[in-house]
Amino acid sequence: MVKIPKEQRRYCPKCDQHTDQTVKEATNRSTSPWSKKARKRQRKIDNGYGSFPYENPAHQSRGGSNPTSSKKDLQFKCRECGKSWKPRKQPRAAKFEIER
Ligand SMILES: [Zn+2]
Repeated sequence: MVKIPKEQRRYCPKCDQHTDQTVKEATNRSTSPWSKKARKRQRKIDNGYGSFPYENPAHQSRGGSNPTSSKKDLQFKCRECGKSWKPRKQPRAAKFEIER
């Protein structure tokens, strides 16, 4: 279980100094089945292409072990300039919580 405080004092790339920032999860919705990406995937599933789609999710990557964790999509917002930004390396965790 990874807990992240909602308010943090972090470096802001815009202000070029440490400021008070709030964190939220940027994407919280499921993908639409009508998007171009989803339609392309469905076309590949219907027609067949090599070994795609992988039946075992562990086969995709991560050395054969079944990935139980996923990368989170965090977004920080600076209180002083109002700009929001995303960190280059997002945290990976199976269980994730933003503390109030
Ligand atoms: Zn700022």
